[in-house]
Amino acid sequence: MNVPLLDLKAQYRQIRAEVMAALESVCEEQAFILGARVADLEKDLQRYLGAAHAVGVASGTDAILLSLMVCGVGPGDEVVTVPYTFFATAGSISRLGAKPVFVDIRPDTFNMDAAQVAERVTPRTKAIIPVHLFGQCADMELIVKVAASRGLAVVEDAAQAIGAKQHGRQAGTIGRLGCFSFFPSKNLGGFGDGGMVTTGDAALAERVRMLRVHGSREKYLHEMVGFNSRLDALQAAVLRVKLTYLDRWTEGRRRNATQYERLFQDVKLQDRVTLPTTDPGNYHVFNQFTIRVQKRDELRAYLKDKGIGTEVYYPIPLHSQTCYRELGYRTGSFPVSERAAREALSLPIYAELSDDQLAYVVDTIAAFYSRH
Ligand SMILES: *Cc1c(COP(=O)(O)O)cnc(C)c1O
Repeated sequence: MNVPLLDLKAQYRQIRAEVMAALESVCEEQAFILGARVADLEKDLQRYLGAAHAVGVASGTDAILLSLMVCGVGPGDEVVTVPYTFFATAGSISRLGAKPVFVDIRPDTFNMDAAQVAERVTPRTKAIIPVHLFGQCADMELIVKVAASRGLAVVEDAAQAIGAKQHGRQAGTIGRLGCFSFFPSKNLGGFGDGGMVTTGDAALAERVRMLRVHGSREKYLHEMVGFNSRLDALQAAVLRVKLTYLDRWTEGRRRNATQYERLFQDVKLQDRVTLPTTDPGNYHVFNQFTIRVQKRDELRAYLKDKGIGTEVYYPIPLHSQTCYRELGYRTGSFPVSERAAREALSLPIYAELSDDQLAYVVDTIAAFYSRH
């Protein structure tokens, strides 16, 4: 049996006719950059998320970069975030000449340990970026509270968490700005790069709108120096089709997560495999189903050999990256992140998986530990 980590072809087969029709109509229009298609997607996402404003940009990375910029983050400023995330979270801070200040994660959820945030705040801190890793929200209540008491902006990295909720509120609508990615492997993935910024603040939304087109509101009038960070109409057309399926696909991921829990219970690997936990109040969308295991790299090679795709998110925490040596952290600075980097393994979780495939994954893991 073959179980890839993600099978986008299986998803595409369900929606092929609709997607092709949408792409065809963009081709007929020959209008590819921003325009009505992107505006339609922005409206759809505003409605879906319950966000006052949504602004399409070129990628999730740019969503973070532009969000930090409109919060006034610049050279000499500090932004608090986690070292256990995709590089773009911290990279966007550095790109603005600001300094990422890391805070460790919680061992159970892999998300920012909100209780440690306050002690990392200095007079130079401008913002906090909680990452809703693997599809569930970080502890926004406490993070927003710390931010409010110090006058800091909260920029949510919701790249992996579209449709996730905390106490009924959508990820990306709780802080000052929310950042989404449409990278193909995200829960709402385009046919290329894309991203979105959401906010409840009309003035900030307007500034993001300007920044994505070289800081201009009116052609050839530049009020600030911005970027080329436009979402294109072909992506928007694909994403609008996919958005109508998102809740169904999310339910499929959640059903598979529940199925994994049942299957793992049966094979009694509690001392070898730690399953992901969901915080009370969170609606988890399982962009990844990430377990913690012993002998992770051996298990991963064994599974590969048996036709099962897995991935390590993330093998090297950001404070240990070469480019961040200058920040002065060392091994041991963030023990929970470092341990996660050694133990985490993401299993296939996409909606189209069959029960047989899920059972095969769990049985194969059990077979590995019966020998080790
Ligand atoms: C994917 C991702 C990003 C970056 O999104 P791109 O669209 O690839 O630029 C940022 N943060 C996290 C946590 C991500 O998973």
